[in-house]
Amino acid sequence: MVRAKKPARKRDGRLGPPQGWPKDPEKYGDPLNWKYPVHSPFHARAARRYFNDPANRAKYDESEQAYVDKKINDALSKFGVAAKIRGGVEEREAGIIERDLPVEKPVEDMDLEELLGVFLGADRLTRAKGIDASLVRFTKRGSTILAAEVKEYVVTMDLLNKTIYHDCTDWTQNRMKAKLFCKHVGRFFFALKKGEAEPLLRRMLFERETWVFDVA
Ligand SMILES: [Zn+2]
Repeated sequence: MVRAKKPARKRDGRLGPPQGWPKDPEKYGDPLNWKYPVHSPFHARAARRYFNDPANRAKYDESEQAYVDKKINDALSKFGVAAKIRGGVEEREAGIIERDLPVEKPVEDMDLEELLGVFLGADRLTRAKGIDASLVRFTKRGSTILAAEVKEYVVTMDLLNKTIYHDCTDWTQNRMKAKLFCKHVGRFFFALKKGEAEPLLRRMLFERETWVFDVA
């Protein structure tokens, strides 16, 4: 494995953070040149996409590439992998999601925890697992509607209309628009049978653009 090294100053590098971008250099894949910001789920995914472009990678030597790759992958693992937006329009995930995942494993081979990691990120995955089973109560368990109370919140999945409804603050303020899960929605999936949850999560990953993440 190549040893990672922080990229040196580049001729086409920036001298400071662009307007509206973070002022902390550590929030960039390439801190000295203020490139590849990874401060939000959307930015981390965009960074992955741009840095996968061979023309962009070629500006860095192998050990610098390893550094930028690690920074981007760490951010994707921390936040979860946001829905892919380009030019304000959500892109089809089928065919592109696997390239942007921080783990080198086909979605088909990922287990429940790995799939949930994509939607939750590392911290929320831990917090989801920490919610006691006694705080999850299914109220509907049909073939098209799954609904549960998780702590004082509700999680409803309408499989026919491909919609998830939920109501916590993390969901409404941070996660919903990136089509990512909060800990309650994560806990909901842990409460389902593996044979039920895994195929559903794989399908949701590949078809995320057709799913609606909404407020209950
Ligand atoms: Zn929640």
